[in-house]
Amino acid sequence: MSTNDFANDREDYGIEDWGAGYFAVNEAGHLCIRTEEDSPDVADISEIVEELVTSKKLGTPLLLRFPQLLTSQLTRLHSAYKQACAEFDYQGKHFPVIPMKVNPRREVIETFLTEGAQFHCGVECGSKSELYAALSLEQSPESLLICNGFKDSAFVDLAIIGTRIGKRVVIVIEKLNELRMVVRRAQETGVKPLIGLRAKLYSQGMGKWVSSGGEAAKFGLTTSEILDCLRVLKEAGMEECLSLMHFHIGSQITDIRSIKGAMQEAARVYAKIRAMEFPVAYLDIGGGMGVDYDGSNTNVESSVNYSMQEFANDVVYTIGQVCENESIPVPNIITESGRVLTAAHALFITSIWDEIETFADKRPEVEVDDDDPDVIREMKQTYDEIDAENYREYYHDALNDKDSMHFQFNLGLITLEDRGKGEVLFWNICNKAVHYAHLAEDETEEFEDAKKKLASKYLCNFSLFKSAPDHWAIDQLFPIMPIHRLNEPPTEITTMVDVTCDSDGIIDHFIDASELKEVLPLHELNDDPYYLAIFFVGAYQEVMGSYHNLFGQPNEALLEINEGGGYRIVRTKKGSNVGEMMQIAGYDTIIALEHVRELADKQIAAGTLTAEEAEGLVSSYAREVGRYTYLENR
Ligand SMILES: *Cc1c(COP(=O)(O)O)cnc(C)c1O
Repeated sequence: MSTNDFANDREDYGIEDWGAGYFAVNEAGHLCIRTEEDSPDVADISEIVEELVTSKKLGTPLLLRFPQLLTSQLTRLHSAYKQACAEFDYQGKHFPVIPMKVNPRREVIETFLTEGAQFHCGVECGSKSELYAALSLEQSPESLLICNGFKDSAFVDLAIIGTRIGKRVVIVIEKLNELRMVVRRAQETGVKPLIGLRAKLYSQGMGKWVSSGGEAAKFGLTTSEILDCLRVLKEAGMEECLSLMHFHIGSQITDIRSIKGAMQEAARVYAKIRAMEFPVAYLDIGGGMGVDYDGSNTNVESSVNYSMQEFANDVVYTIGQVCENESIPVPNIITESGRVLTAAHALFITSIWDEIETFADKRPEVEVDDDDPDVIREMKQTYDEIDAENYREYYHDALNDKDSMHFQFNLGLITLEDRGKGEVLFWNICNKAVHYAHLAEDETEEFEDAKKKLASKYLCNFSLFKSAPDHWAIDQLFPIMPIHRLNEPPTEITTMVDVTCDSDGIIDHFIDASELKEVLPLHELNDDPYYLAIFFVGAYQEVMGSYHNLFGQPNEALLEINEGGGYRIVRTKKGSNVGEMMQIAGYDTIIALEHVRELADKQIAAGTLTAEEAEGLVSSYAREVGRYTYLENR
């Protein structure tokens, strides 16, 4: 759909609202990135993509990773807690811990442990493989390695190995039986592990992950189980092992009010246990600090109604107050924030491959004369006469005429040409009706619907299921915008479809930077490539992504933003090829090739292929195994 009605004055797609200070548009109309808010040292994303595509032959889809943004976010988080501790005269310290499940990639976790060593940044794991990986990484001696999740004896043994090789491993107990296992292994090995208890809170978060907290939560110990655990520890003479209390009320907490309540409860539980002479030194408040994906700064699901500082203030102040009231020393505070630390660092780039033809495409005016069937002549009249006064009524007439036209076609009363004319007329009427509805600020559902139907469908080279699965699974919104042409007004109203053979592979909900929530204003395509960025995919998306249709990993580049501006490509990595995806699905590429060769040989024997032709086919088949799984060349 091409209409200037919706052409947006804003060419920055609300970047000021959701960009967290990291993104901006430069004078050339290109998207830029920087490591600090307001820093003049920017890297031009459009230049980066151009270089990767043309010089490095890394086409879209393309994941750009900026580890400096991990460090910036960690510094922001730690500074917020430090400032809160200073402001409320809180005697404990803040220890950040990065949960591996948010993005287990080695580069990501290593960046936190190395760059965050000055803040004693530790790591949290929730499975044997995460723990195994965590044990292989260098971390600062004061930092913690926290083991959450359900555990078997092998998990506990790995944790004990970690303790014996000098790491500060905390085994967080989710079930009473886990504690019994830990006590047994401790007695057998003579190791005194650091132990944490995860409590179920009565308080709940708000937003999509509300069920992570509350009485019926999957994780954590009930009050009576906690008391049982304390008894077991006492009986084993292991009171001094209990060093941490753990809580997690869910991810992407949208409303600051849920924090205060949860912290009051958590701090009380801590204080009561501390009063029973258990030397608990840490209160681990879990994750949950959210990302303002849509920039609205509200408590809607894709936003948050607080700043990092406000969150930290509420946590520190509330814990401090409760401890003062209970006359108990304050704990050190551990945060397991993952989403807010990792989301911004990865930027996903796709390009528009083509436009999908729909009925609604721009069609020339239709010639109608007296020989045409009544229904077509009526539609033509509606088209000519629709205006700002009658658009609603005339649109309804057109809907009726369209039905009647299809009915007549099915009965054999009108021709294929007639039906063609009728369809074009209908969509042209629809276009006009939407135009008048827009002028009248008429946002009723039928015209919103019509607008969406009229939107151009841009076919984008990526798989939603691989690269932004939460949009499909839980309607998570991500900011999306072109990386260039940002000094031209966007004139096309579009939705984005991906290259999978799945009708769910579509993005048709967007952040509300303009009033258009179900369509995205983009530019008219020309002969040059058109690139789009999907922001904040650094948290959860990479690891949750699936191999639907055997589309694999995208190409990847690790980038550094230079001091003084510009960028450096640190490393690139080719995405999955066809052969790798075949193996994941249980195919053997050698057997596949042999099979194709056998079939070709049969054709030679039958005389339908020459030996030379057969050889050509077999070697082409062999070569294709190395291809990128996404669309490459026309
Ligand atoms: C998922 C999870 C986190 C991370 O939550 P974010 O919302 O990403 O900060 C932290 N701790 C535990 C126990 C978790 O399950």
